[in-house]
Amino acid sequence: MRTIYNKRAKMQRAELDGGTQIQFLYKYITNGGYVSFNKINAETNQLESLFFAHPVSIQLCKMFSCVFLLDCTYKTNRYKLPLLCIVGVTSTNRSFYAAFVFMSNEVETSYAWALECFRTILDQKKLPCVLVTDREIALMNAIAVVFPGAKNILCKFHISRNILAHCKKEFKNGKEWEKFNGKWQQLVDSPRESDFYQTFLEMKTEYEIAYPQVYSYVVTTWITPYKEYFVAAWVDMHLHLGNSTTNRVEGSHCQLKKFLEVSIGNLATIWQTFDQMINLQHTEIMRSFGQSTIQTNRVFSSSLYSDLLGYISITALEYIKKEEFRARTGHGSFEGCTHKIKYTLGLPCAHDLLSYIRNNNTFPLWMIHDHWKQLTLREIKEEQDIKEENEADSKIDVEIEGILRR
Ligand SMILES: [Zn+2]
Repeated sequence: MRTIYNKRAKMQRAELDGGTQIQFLYKYITNGGYVSFNKINAETNQLESLFFAHPVSIQLCKMFSCVFLLDCTYKTNRYKLPLLCIVGVTSTNRSFYAAFVFMSNEVETSYAWALECFRTILDQKKLPCVLVTDREIALMNAIAVVFPGAKNILCKFHISRNILAHCKKEFKNGKEWEKFNGKWQQLVDSPRESDFYQTFLEMKTEYEIAYPQVYSYVVTTWITPYKEYFVAAWVDMHLHLGNSTTNRVEGSHCQLKKFLEVSIGNLATIWQTFDQMINLQHTEIMRSFGQSTIQTNRVFSSSLYSDLLGYISITALEYIKKEEFRARTGHGSFEGCTHKIKYTLGLPCAHDLLSYIRNNNTFPLWMIHDHWKQLTLREIKEEQDIKEENEADSKIDVEIEGILRR
């Protein structure tokens, strides 16, 4: 047994001595049954970018295509290859790795190539409504070209971190900074455009002269070019399913880093880590679907839920439950409702539930957004397409094999 292991270790070492790491990664990916696309530099014949997605992830992408979070990271491997991570969200509020792209650089054309690849694995009739990113200009430009119909939302925590780094030092004392930061948070959370302009005016009065650097930084870097990308008044008009930060993808990275700390750090190991994690994720997602289809939950026993139980996820039921509570305790006046629940989640607001509650009626299933109704892994209808893609890929395989043999 030991000899076999040693032999295998020797072989791996031997493999890693030749060719570039990304080219070896390509081999593991295709052997592992993943769908992949690659870009080869015409001059050097080197593999430049590598996109890959697990077949189950592709099914999940087709089922849950409303929102994706994109994050680029550099620290996951010692070769410092930028890695674009695309994460989706299920009906049960679980994150899933949609796709990964190793890129040799982070210029706009590389991002555009990565996004084009991503678009091909999606259901073309259901392209994303929302894409959440950090302020990575090249990525944002590429999104505008490849997904012109999607709303690009900027992670508000990422913005907060930038403001902390740029502005805190300018203030005389901690108390002054806290006051400014409080105002900034209020501005970001403005539920209506009118609230935004009101708070902005207060901010201008207080800080334009007293703290000109701070004021000019927040205005020129964030407010003027990007207010529609992160202020609630604009962002909450879009179906972001509660994702106005990239925390979900950063959380996934932390999980990834935990694995990587104990690994040797070469790309083969990173590959195995990905594979294990993705499979684990899929198992957990299937379990969460199962939990939502078991109709034994006593919390949702009222007739309001009788057409919904088992057909929408528990996550959606819990959101509706909160609105039901608001309807029952809100004394009937919802004139000021910004319909955040309806626009951002595709679920009924408290006032939509009122008449159903009063008349003891059941809430109709058709009024719930399809996102919440996906509770089984669908068959891949486009299996044939993927097969054809694989055949096209295998031609490139041969080329790569050639490169590797040199
Ligand atoms: Zn409403």
